[in-house]
Amino acid sequence: SGEPIFQRVALIGLGLIAGSMSLAMREGGLAAHLVGYARSPETRQTAREIGLVDEVADTAAEAVTGADLVVLAVPVGAMGDVAVEIAPHLAPGAILTDVGSVKQSVIDVVAPHVPEGVHFVPGHPLAGTEHSGPRSGFATLFRNRWWLLTPLPDSDPAAVERLSALVRAMGANVDTMEAPHHDRVLAVTSHVPHLIAYTMVGVADHLSRVTESEVIRYSAAGFRDFTRIAASDPTMWRDVFLHNKEATLDILGRFAEELFVLQRAIRMGDGEHLHRYFTGTRAIRRGII
Ligand code: NAD
Repeated sequence: SGEPIFQRVALIGLGLIAGSMSLAMREGGLAAHLVGYARSPETRQTAREIGLVDEVADTAAEAVTGADLVVLAVPVGAMGDVAVEIAPHLAPGAILTDVGSVKQSVIDVVAPHVPEGVHFVPGHPLAGTEHSGPRSGFATLFRNRWWLLTPLPDSDPAAVERLSALVRAMGANVDTMEAPHHDRVLAVTSHVPHLIAYTMVGVADHLSRVTESEVIRYSAAGFRDFTRIAASDPTMWRDVFLHNKEATLDILGRFAEELFVLQRAIRMGDGEHLHRYFTGTRAIRRGII
């Protein structure tokens, strides 16, 4: 492990992402001191028991005091409240980042509270699992994954570079883009797929009155792989859709159109259309991994 990049890192929220960051930073010796805070006393207790961070604070204000890096790792809908709570306690020169799955709405509620002299650099690690909570983190979560930063026009380039160095040291690749573009891209690659997975589970559940346990018993072919992400945290995903409304509605509309075309092809027995479509999607999908 090398020289620490930050002296005191405050993690607000102690779930999958913050926990994984803590373990990755500890493994790499990237932070001299790791302090964490979560709203729920149970989560703080668990974090203490398993030694997830070096110190668990009892308030967010206490956690961020003196920190040179503050990470907001709470559900997107809680970012604004947390920003209000910590703002007066942020140290001059500190870097403030977040890991929210939606970027523009977080910027809208956090940026107005960031004091002069504190550098806000919003971010989003494209890494996760369907697990959540303080026990779900692991040090290698970010390895070889993208970590998108969506700096503001007035973000300090030195702060962006220092945060990028940390992200790279945790094994991720950094890219920067504008927040609205991020939110559209993620609607396609993550948000709408989650919604469709949730829907598929809902459909299977409705059918299970007739099929009893068959959906579960014979779920290997497609259903199990396809719906793994439907076990993800309900609060996190509620907030994603409430805060990336326009982009997800737009992409969902396009998805529905596409689905109708396939539905019609099936009804009309248009095998040629289905084959051509699946050939195209196979080529695209094989190009991804
Ligand atoms: P999680 O449910 O595992 O953890 C969330 C944590 O926030 C919990 O410790 C909870 O106690 C705490 N919390 C909730 N409200 C709070 C508040 N008002 N004040 C303080 N703490 C509060 O969730 P996670 O998966 O770690 O997600 C955290 C953030 O990261 C979310 O914004 C999410 O959109 C984003 N994200 C998640 C994933 C993923 O796949 N899970 C991937 C990338 C980004």
